[in-house]
Amino acid sequence: MYDVIIIGSGVAGVSAALTLQLYRKNILWLGSRALSEKIRKAEKIKNYPALTAVTGEAFVQSLQEQISAEGLLITPQTATGVYAMGKSFTVTTEKDAFEGKTVILATGVESSKSVAGEQEFLGRGVSYCATCDGFLYKDKTIAVVCTLKDKEHEVQYLASLAKKVYLVPLYKDVSLQQDNVESVKGMPVTIEGNKRVERLVFKDKTLEVDGVFFLKNAIAPSALVGGLQTQDGHVVIERDTSTNIAGLFAAGDCTGRPYQYAKAVGEGNVAAHAVIEYLNKNIKEE
Ligand SMILES: Cc1cc2nc3c(=O)[nH]c(=O)nc-3n(C[C@H](O)[C@H](O)[C@H](O)COP(=O)(O)OP(=O)(O)OC[C@H]3O[C@@H](n4cnc5c(N)ncnc54)[C@H](O)[C@@H]3O)c2cc1C
Repeated sequence: MYDVIIIGSGVAGVSAALTLQLYRKNILWLGSRALSEKIRKAEKIKNYPALTAVTGEAFVQSLQEQISAEGLLITPQTATGVYAMGKSFTVTTEKDAFEGKTVILATGVESSKSVAGEQEFLGRGVSYCATCDGFLYKDKTIAVVCTLKDKEHEVQYLASLAKKVYLVPLYKDVSLQQDNVESVKGMPVTIEGNKRVERLVFKDKTLEVDGVFFLKNAIAPSALVGGLQTQDGHVVIERDTSTNIAGLFAAGDCTGRPYQYAKAVGEGNVAAHAVIEYLNKNIKEE
């Protein structure tokens, strides 16, 4: 079992991982080896100490060099669920399930808006994980709201199972072409149904569907962790970054404004120390 599972590879996750590595903790780090689009896209960063008008690209490169020099490795998987199991956690991804004594959420904030009904129908026709839930929609009709081109292979996988896929791409240059995949323009407004999902409604049209998949890099914290206290979409934390779930900590943009590197780095560091303290206390009590 891992001492800590870090979810997210932005600067909050990097900061937590660096400190936990110095304390020789057994870490599983889930995220992207490209780190975060939000770092890469920054034109010039002018408010981070010691870096003078550095570009996002240069910042990412420097972080990647540091991560590799410290012997840290990112497991390139997206967490799809975090389950508190008493004194430990199970974290599921599209491929695997991992066990950790503690978890740090450093998932950033979603740039895409959620659709009304997304939370309500989660597990009743709404899914974030093609690999985990795709088989439930064999020969059925589904909609896939996809925010990133690099998730098209997951759409393709769903199309190999479903009878019909309505692809709602929230990106440009769709390259996927398959007989049973129909591209639909626009942003869905609401998901409707009774016990399960029945319809995906747009301003100007309605799709009759058995399920809706949302394929995106960041999943809202409340959808990722059942029972997690959030406010206005942000995780509610104490000063030590602890949440209302013992052993679960959160850092960076996902805990609220200001959305800034320095704040995310600071909270990542505080979360790492809170994890160390939590582990020490629990080991003593066992
Ligand atoms: C264009 C742009 C320019 C900016 N310029 C500045 C600036 O000059 N100065 C400044 O202070 N701030 C700036 N910011 C804000 C800054 O980028 C954010 O505050 C910072 O990146 C937050 O870091 P984070 O680690 O909390 O989250 P993020 O950087 O958003 O990283 C979160 C990471 O976690 C991953 N992730 C999410 N969910 C999961 C999951 N379920 N499983 C696995 N991985 C997951 C995401 O894919 C992402 O890689 C800028 C933002 C943008 C968009």
